[in-house]
Amino acid sequence: MADKEMWYETLHAGFGQYFSVDNVLYREQTGHQDLIIFENAALGRVMALDGVVQTTERDEFIYHEMMTHIPLLAHGAAESVLIIGGGDGAMLREVSRHQGIKKITMVEIDAGVVTFCKQYLPNHSQGAYDDPRFTLVIDDGVNFVKQTAEKFDVIISDCTDPIGPGESLFTSEFYAGCHRILHENGIFVAQNGVCFLQQDEAVNSHRKLGHYFKDVSFYQAAVPTYYGGIMTFAWASDNPALRQLDASTIAKRFTASGLTCRYYNPAIHAGSFALPQYLLNALVG
Ligand code: SAM
Repeated sequence: MADKEMWYETLHAGFGQYFSVDNVLYREQTGHQDLIIFENAALGRVMALDGVVQTTERDEFIYHEMMTHIPLLAHGAAESVLIIGGGDGAMLREVSRHQGIKKITMVEIDAGVVTFCKQYLPNHSQGAYDDPRFTLVIDDGVNFVKQTAEKFDVIISDCTDPIGPGESLFTSEFYAGCHRILHENGIFVAQNGVCFLQQDEAVNSHRKLGHYFKDVSFYQAAVPTYYGGIMTFAWASDNPALRQLDASTIAKRFTASGLTCRYYNPAIHAGSFALPQYLLNALVG
């Protein structure tokens, strides 16, 4: 049998992960990014941008459940949600499961990601793009948060790593804009990399967010194809109580939501805010 093509992730110099490519479904330079979607026997369909794994069918549920149900159940009464990035549609899928939400806006810089993920990763969006509550804006997220007159209860920055188009979503300008457009008791969360390998990114985000938000921290989960250990999710709000809800409140809200999840549960919610000492030490500087 001819040797299979291998796809190598290039996020880290000198080490990383690789996937056998069983079938390339799509590849394009979208004008913003080098997008590839291929099939891999172990992980299902894989989408990568600029050489970095963005999502796989097999483990995407961990990341998307953690980035939606934690801020939304912590808020408890969210009606308007802003997703920055998220072009594969799975974040939208999970947000739209919350019946109390009236408005979901997604600001995605690359229309190509939406188009090709709708077609080649249908299990990610699962029709969520047709939700009547949903509006898609094609723009750089930093432009939108600077200029919009709208306000939101929860902002989810589902962006790439801070390289290329994703860089602007890790700037003070972006964080200031997010703070400006959050309602009272609003919550901002963002993917902030695998802290064992991208610790500086977490430290930088923590410092910059601290200029605008009263309560800044992280929560975490291990997502297998975000290589190298736990992924840290940035958390920022002006109400520290939102990050310290007691387990019974979280459990009551989860039950009332009617959600069934494959990773998230109330114990995971409470436990995910516990952080490794090396990160806590780095955050105090
Ligand atoms: N789950 C992935 C992760 O944690 O790395 C992120 C997945 S999602 C595909 C990342 C999305 O962010 C992509 O669709 C990309 O086009 C979008 N993106 C990158 N930079 C952006 C920007 N400045 N504004 C809006 N969207 C952006």
